[in-house]
Amino acid sequence: MNELGCFMKIAIYTILFLLSFSIFSFGQNSIGLIGGNIFDGKKFVKKDLYIADGKITFEKPGTLEKTIKIENQFVIPPFGDAHTHNLDREFQLTYLPEQYLKEGTFYVQNLTAKTKNIDYFRKYFSTKQTPDVIFANQGISSTSGHPFMAYEPYVMGLYDASKWKDNIEKIRTSRLDEGNSYIFIDSKKAAKEKLKGFFAGKPDIVKIFLVDVGNFEKNSVDEILGNSGLPAELAEYVTKESQKRGLKVYAHIDTAEDFETGVKIGVDGFAHMPTWNGKPETKQEFQVSKKVLEKAANRNIVISPTIAITTGGTDKDSQEYKNQIEFIRQFLSKYHKLGGTILIGSDYFNRPLTVELKAFIEVDAFEELELLKIVSETTPRAIFPERKIGFLKEGYEGSVLVLKKNPLEDSENLFGITHWIKQGQILKFD
Ligand SMILES: [Zn+2]
Repeated sequence: MNELGCFMKIAIYTILFLLSFSIFSFGQNSIGLIGGNIFDGKKFVKKDLYIADGKITFEKPGTLEKTIKIENQFVIPPFGDAHTHNLDREFQLTYLPEQYLKEGTFYVQNLTAKTKNIDYFRKYFSTKQTPDVIFANQGISSTSGHPFMAYEPYVMGLYDASKWKDNIEKIRTSRLDEGNSYIFIDSKKAAKEKLKGFFAGKPDIVKIFLVDVGNFEKNSVDEILGNSGLPAELAEYVTKESQKRGLKVYAHIDTAEDFETGVKIGVDGFAHMPTWNGKPETKQEFQVSKKVLEKAANRNIVISPTIAITTGGTDKDSQEYKNQIEFIRQFLSKYHKLGGTILIGSDYFNRPLTVELKAFIEVDAFEELELLKIVSETTPRAIFPERKIGFLKEGYEGSVLVLKKNPLEDSENLFGITHWIKQGQILKFD
């Protein structure tokens, strides 16, 4: 797309956005939230909060252009979603950004994006009326490894997964989306060449794929597509090259061995936790030892467990489902107790964070305080470490949510938002 085309598109979509969303935003130079309870990182403190020139202050500005009485309501920082593949496609723009904002999610991390038009989306999501989004650009894997099957068949027009089997040979050799959603690297030589182009696309972060890495040799040559990722040595090479350039590396993982490999090669984050299906005979493959968990925690590796999508295919009345929930609860509380950092992110295509927040509440691995911190402090700060967000402190960005009821009494209260302010702009939804 040329510059002008790009600009026109942004203009058109901005208009569409405003029309279809019924989001109204009002920029005031000074706003006062009066009579509420302010989250200080540990508890709520009764005091007034002001936003002047887009920043939080507790000193009353000389003139107050807008006063909002929030008698006894609860003010918290906005939410972050650290794992999605949304917001890189035009058709989502008429509804999804609004859904993110409305549920309170202002900060989003896309871990593998359609990259061809990514500059357009970067510009699009750079306003006070849109969520702030960072992009990993293409996912990095080996030939026909994951995420190949999550993209290629759809680009070929094969939207119905039951048709894939009959078309498997066509899919195997098709490369319509190569360089757009995925990059295949099978050797160090290829890595050197392809990473040049990848880094030139200016990714904000990097996503690599480890899929049953212990069986890479076998899986990479069998008939099944998408059941492998990078072999360990190439994963390490990509990780080191990315980190040299100041980029954080997130690894997709399935098994405990993938997790251990990720720790060994020094990734910065895991895009999932080991994804056990709840069947007792396979549990061993997904159990990470305490020693490895400790190492991961000591190296400050962040984990986004993607609970909802991991358990989404399991019958809720089955024993397998109970097993999965218990396994996830134990894993998360163990990692938390070891000092490890947990992030929240849904990974659900075409849906924002709420489904995952509900899953976190169901799994119940965290006290209300801890969950509030994960969703409104730890995750936003992991996505934008350089920005003054995640705390309601003097001089921090003037972005807040107001909740009707106390989220420290019941995490369900996180769904009861009454006011939204982003960088000094009051957002209203119809
Ligand atoms: Zn994902």
